Amino acid sequence: MYFDYAATTPPNDEVLKTFDTVNRDFWANPHALHRPGLRAEQLLEQARGQVLALLGAESGFRCIFTSGATESNNMAIRGTAYRFKKRGKHLITSAVEHPSVLTVFQSLESEGFDVTVLPVLGNGTVDPEELKNALRPDTTLVSLMHVNNEVGAINELPILGKVIKEGSDAVFHVDAAQSAGKLPIDLSKLQVDLLTFSAHKFYGLKGSGALLLPEKMVFKPLLYGGGQEFGLRSGTADPARAAAMAKALRLSLKNWEEDFAWVSKLRFQIQETLQKIPEVEINGSLDEGSPYIINCSVAGIKPETILQGLAEKKIYISTVSACSARQTAESFVVKAVTGDTKRAQHSIRISLASITAQDEVDGLCATLPELIETLR
Ligand code: PLP
Repeated sequence: MYFDYAATTPPNDEVLKTFDTVNRDFWANPHALHRPGLRAEQLLEQARGQVLALLGAESGFRCIFTSGATESNNMAIRGTAYRFKKRGKHLITSAVEHPSVLTVFQSLESEGFDVTVLPVLGNGTVDPEELKNALRPDTTLVSLMHVNNEVGAINELPILGKVIKEGSDAVFHVDAAQSAGKLPIDLSKLQVDLLTFSAHKFYGLKGSGALLLPEKMVFKPLLYGGGQEFGLRSGTADPARAAAMAKALRLSLKNWEEDFAWVSKLRFQIQETLQKIPEVEINGSLDEGSPYIINCSVAGIKPETILQGLAEKKIYISTVSACSARQTAESFVVKAVTGDTKRAQHSIRISLASITAQDEVDGLCATLPELIETLR
């Protein structure tokens, strides 16, 4: 029983079929000028168009295919910071961002940029008022996540975008790794300039993702070479991965409402179970936030011990953020959300997917209270 879908999801059969077909039938270099190359290029461009359309970004945006959210975040943050550094060197992010965002800001800080790291509210979201007060005439970039990967908090993008655009000339970058494919995102209605995501979070393949950015935006690439992907990401593009990602995104978004309702039902069952266990506290919000992610702290027991105990029963959850590293230290996200070090040291994450079955949740809800009592 797998409850670690925020770390990754299994690739969908149809996605694997698309990947296989394109690899077999359209394997030519999409940048070559011969006929097989042009056919591969056609598929690549078709996938690009589909991704843009699925995210309301058909007009005014570009899609750059990358190796995933880590690369997209690096490219977006570094690219924007350098691009506008003559205008200003003030950058804003939040305390609960993924390490692929926070460590980029740390490195920019060591290069002389001035970084404001916003605190978050008790539900894990950024306070629009706090953001407004942090904006300055020299702010060039604000980078905030859509859904938090540890506690599932959902930032209100329409409100945050409005605050940024009304109060500054800053570019707004959003890490949507935990929301793409699960929540609808319509860039035509949001004041978001750059959007990051990874295909393997919505039944696509690992090693593929994208950065959406304004058509007119140019910046220094991370990778130099043949100038592919509008000069922003050199290297031979992979039509198979691109087509697989477009398919995964389309399939995930097709049923997003139904999936959201199903997962919400399971989430409430798990939360109810957790709330009945003495000295277990839910981190983040109980009824707002993404239903795909549940985080709680279990006093008196090391998270690794709970993980092991559940693993012996073939139930797999995670501590801290399994997608950042195999670390067992305290969760800086839970610390920022609760302000409580003990809770941050004792947090576990249970994450769900549309494919999570009722009997799996029943199994977890029967096992966890008993295990915690035994361990105590
Ligand atoms: N951003 C968030 C919010 C994530 O949850 C993840 C997950 O790993 C990433 C970025 C990095 O994604 P990837 O490992 O696919 O590059």
